[in-house]
Amino acid sequence: MKQHPAIQSFAQHVNPTFVKLLGMWNYGRVYTHAKGVWLYDHENNCYLDFLAGFGSINAGHNHPRFSEAAQRFFASSPVSLCHMGISIHEAELGARLAKLAPPLTMSLFASSGAEAAEAGIKLARASTRRHGILYCTGSYHGTTLGTLSIMGSQRMRAPFEPLLSDCQPIPFGELSALEDALKSKKIAAFITEPIQAEGGMNFPPASYLSKAAELCRHYGTLFILDEIQTGLGRTGVMLACLQAGTTPDVLLLAKALGGGIAPVSVALTTSKIHRKAYGSMDRFDLHSSTFGGNAFSCAMAQELLSIIEDEDLVSNSATRGKQLLQGLQQRLSGHPFIRDIRGQGLLVAIELGPTDKGWVNKIAPSLVSRLSRELFGQWAALRLLEAGMICQPCAHQWNVLKLEPPLTITQKEIELGIEMIASVFEAYPRLMPLLKDILLRTGQQATQGWKIQ
Ligand code: PLP
Repeated sequence: MKQHPAIQSFAQHVNPTFVKLLGMWNYGRVYTHAKGVWLYDHENNCYLDFLAGFGSINAGHNHPRFSEAAQRFFASSPVSLCHMGISIHEAELGARLAKLAPPLTMSLFASSGAEAAEAGIKLARASTRRHGILYCTGSYHGTTLGTLSIMGSQRMRAPFEPLLSDCQPIPFGELSALEDALKSKKIAAFITEPIQAEGGMNFPPASYLSKAAELCRHYGTLFILDEIQTGLGRTGVMLACLQAGTTPDVLLLAKALGGGIAPVSVALTTSKIHRKAYGSMDRFDLHSSTFGGNAFSCAMAQELLSIIEDEDLVSNSATRGKQLLQGLQQRLSGHPFIRDIRGQGLLVAIELGPTDKGWVNKIAPSLVSRLSRELFGQWAALRLLEAGMICQPCAHQWNVLKLEPPLTITQKEIELGIEMIASVFEAYPRLMPLLKDILLRTGQQATQGWKIQ
């Protein structure tokens, strides 16, 4: 593969170590254009996108309606960054979002997911006048200092400690641990994801979210639900919390909200909580950001919501998600290194690790477990890239391969995806050939990696 000039510039001016890593694993491609569920590299090879900007490209890449909406937007000579008065775009988007999960009718707008989570934390502290924040082990809410304080991965937290005080981890899915912590009555908020995506695609017990919400209310703590990756149709319903039969006190949305092109995020809450936190002359401006709720992002978010409605992407996510899950289960259950295939809607995972099949698993399960955590997930993602599919392991659990294509994906594209994934795993039913392939590639690629000046 010939080198694209962006590789040098990226290495020199953005992130040299990342470029080295990409080159070494032969993982790197320079993607130049994208359409629907397909990405194209600088040599015009195409890739089925089962990563979709970490679940941000729900309407597919470059949906034509975004460019039409952008043209309409600029033709209207819009007023941007209108923080000195009433922003029409913010008002209109706020009114639309208020219908998503009533009684959450108030919107605190920002640009990124982490900022929405920060807005949730601030809202909780300001409205309850308490300090404590509970979060779950395995969580991922962002990489700002505030959100690192509620990050369930020591590797990502450690270089930046000390972080915010009074943030306490509890096990995901365990109500007794939650109640024990809430009893202190010093907890401002409990924050969790409905399904932990980056934590390894972990599903809580069935009634966890509704019971957690009840417990929080009982002890005067705000329940913050981070639907930044699960929301807006990803799990086959508009919001995962609605399926769980619960509405949190604060709901976080980001990623897909701006169509994958405009940075926009929101912390939605009730007017009562909003009033308690910011409802006075000396407090109304305590939370703001220059680009929060900017006109362009709001216009793109409106278009995204319309596309989801008009194209019925929520039910497509449910149907195609079931097809993907069942197709993978049919082809791959019984594979000696696949422990589980699980998912909801178009958020599907393949967990790698020791099973009860084959002699290697029987005599050396801890070796297989370690190899799975450190190598197999990345290896599978690399093999799939070579086969023409983009996907990645979860950020905190590299033995779990996460599959989250755009919600516009068709039946045929799902069939193709199943075939690609199944073929890669079916070709390696035993450990030794798999390890040999990993070692060979690591050796070759270490010598052939991109050269950076
Ligand atoms: N919350 C969840 C569940 C996420 O998956 C992410 C990002 O992956 C975030 C928050 C942080 O979003 P951002 O990267 O936009 O700050």
